[in-house]
Amino acid sequence: MTSHKRPGGTSMSISVGFLGLGHMGGPMASNLVNAGHNVVGFDPVPAALEQAGKAGVSVVESAEAAVGGSDVVITMLPSGQHVLSLYEQILPAAKPGTLFIDCSTIDVADARTAHQQAVEAGHRAVDAPVSGGVVGATAGTLAFMVGGSEQDFTAAEPILDVMGKKVVHCGSPGNGQAAKICNNMILGVSMIAVSEAFVLGEKLGLSNQALFDVASNASGQCWALVANCPVPGPVPTSPANRDYEPGFAASLMDKDLGLAANALRANGVEADLGLRAAELYSSFNAAGGGGQDFSAIIKDVRERSSRKTEADQ
Ligand code: NAD
Repeated sequence: MTSHKRPGGTSMSISVGFLGLGHMGGPMASNLVNAGHNVVGFDPVPAALEQAGKAGVSVVESAEAAVGGSDVVITMLPSGQHVLSLYEQILPAAKPGTLFIDCSTIDVADARTAHQQAVEAGHRAVDAPVSGGVVGATAGTLAFMVGGSEQDFTAAEPILDVMGKKVVHCGSPGNGQAAKICNNMILGVSMIAVSEAFVLGEKLGLSNQALFDVASNASGQCWALVANCPVPGPVPTSPANRDYEPGFAASLMDKDLGLAANALRANGVEADLGLRAAELYSSFNAAGGGGQDFSAIIKDVRERSSRKTEADQ
């Protein structure tokens, strides 16, 4: 794994408990070790624990053992349910005033509950979900979106700086998660819009390259088009050129749009496109597409279009 120490990162060695050493947590913990921090880690999956041990993390047999002597506890877990039940287990085992940083992508409401639980137990807490994927986690170039008080953000920033290139304070507890799901809702909707435009262009006899050359220089320009183009050719580095190997997996987009849909409903927001995007990624995932890059949704647009054409004939 890449050794990484950001010049802006803290120069003091900090004791960090790291829980969840999977695809993202493993390389993030490794970067903290490489920056000189004392990282004690736990994950119930033996292979994840072994890999972290090889990267210099002091591995322990339980979550409680990872937090007891730590000043900062980082969690990188699959869901809000995992975070809330783990917090219940570990909050009593931590030293008073420990700073809890949850980097998982979870429901805004769960993030606010987790924050409240930590504070009631005498600790400090921020939510700090990330973008940048496994590549960013390995290179130490993640973007962190942080929700929490000014004081807790200031305490978390130097440690996040080690693992990322951009750390943004988004406001009060839960607002990091809010920023993450709003951004990913834009991304999911725009990827579907770009895919629909390419499929329409194909039906109209327009080459993918011609559409790309126009839209990438016109008002249709967006990240889904210019960086993660869903057709092979125009952007050689996009996943479409390697049979849609992720990248950002469609299963993760499905998860994030599900969280966005929960928040849209809970807050009474009229968002036809966000909710429809959640439905489309959910059925793409259920049909077995989840392991592909999220730009593979273009195949779903093509398939539904050809079914419609057949039905119309
Ligand atoms: P992962 O499944 O690879 O890792 C999660 C790890 O948490 C697993 O190793 C699991 O064993 C561990 N875990 C579960 N319960 C635990 C417990 N009680 N104590 C300690 N460890 C426990 O998932 P990932 O891809 O690393 O993603 C983690 C989070 O980051 C998710 O919320 C995901 O949505 C988010 N995220 C992932 C990506 C990505 O590209 N993979 C990008 C951005 C955000």
